[in-house]
Amino acid sequence: VAKGAGKSQWRRYESDLHSAMVQRLELRTALDHAVNEGHFLLHYQPIVDLHTDEAVAFEALVRWHHPQRGTIPPDQFIEVAEESGLIVQIGRWVLEQALHTVSQWQRILPPGRLHYISVNVSVRQFRTPGFIDEVRGLLDTYGVDPRMLMLEITETLLMRDDEQTWQDLQKLRDLGVRIAIDDFGTGYSSLGYLRQRPIDVLKIDKTFIDDMVDSPQQHALVQSIVGLARTLNLKVVAEGIESPEHRDTLMRMGCPLGQGYLFSRPVSAAEAFAWLNSHARLAA
Ligand code: C2E
Ligand code: MG
Ligand code: MG
Ligand code: MG
Repeated sequence: VAKGAGKSQWRRYESDLHSAMVQRLELRTALDHAVNEGHFLLHYQPIVDLHTDEAVAFEALVRWHHPQRGTIPPDQFIEVAEESGLIVQIGRWVLEQALHTVSQWQRILPPGRLHYISVNVSVRQFRTPGFIDEVRGLLDTYGVDPRMLMLEITETLLMRDDEQTWQDLQKLRDLGVRIAIDDFGTGYSSLGYLRQRPIDVLKIDKTFIDDMVDSPQQHALVQSIVGLARTLNLKVVAEGIESPEHRDTLMRMGCPLGQGYLFSRPVSAAEAFAWLNSHARLAA
């Protein structure tokens, strides 16, 4: 490579790097502003009983409601929120908003209609001192039965396999709150971990469901996760069900619950409640 070309490549690299940094900084500043102004909203995606197509639970999913740019999905800001620590405030708002919504729903719904609401918790949020007290306090404030709350954690949280994390999860479960491992199979947690641990649900990541119908290998992988869940006495929920083939395959494997665009995209609280209240089955 000629010296000149190398130099100009380096300059381009530098300027790309620079603009990426500027963009990140701008994003962080805008996010900071959004946190102060409360520019977030929650959508709810139904978790469906695959045998009846009935919504039995919902996962709360955050969106950034940007005054100029409209609705921004979490993939575009959760990472920066996590790095900057803003996720702690965002996560607190998400939990409060979800419990507030459930407290309103449960005043009207027949008992047992809604099984639970699922809320994503980031590693940083989980490790913030006082997190468990906060969960307890919010359940109390909104008068929500702790069994109505499922917290979704990721394998990253379990990677260190430290006793403190397991103890904290156990404390949450002692309250009655349930714990799901989100995106199960994408991390590096060893399966041995999961025996006798305070975990209730494995959520099979969408990437496994995607190729399951065409690839025997993926099929076997999903089957083995369902089998693992059964062995460990855990419930299993499949993510990213987009076709009737996905649903039928999962049902044959013995997976009872799932969520995905086949049933519904994440929707507003009002739309979610309309389904629950009418007992209507979801279009599929
Ligand atoms: P996740 O927790 O695994 O949530 C499932 C994601 O898959 C959602 O994306 C959902 O809309 C999408 N999805 C569900 N079914 C389908 C399908 O059939 N096809 C396709 N293509 N996608 C499907 P979303 O809402 O964009 O959220 C992305 C991720 O952002 C979440 O993945 C979660 O990791 C994170 N996230 C969302 N809300 C929160 C939150 O309140 N706190 C934290 N810490 N993270 C959150
Ligand atoms: Mg999730
Ligand atoms: Mg997930
Ligand atoms: Mg996922």
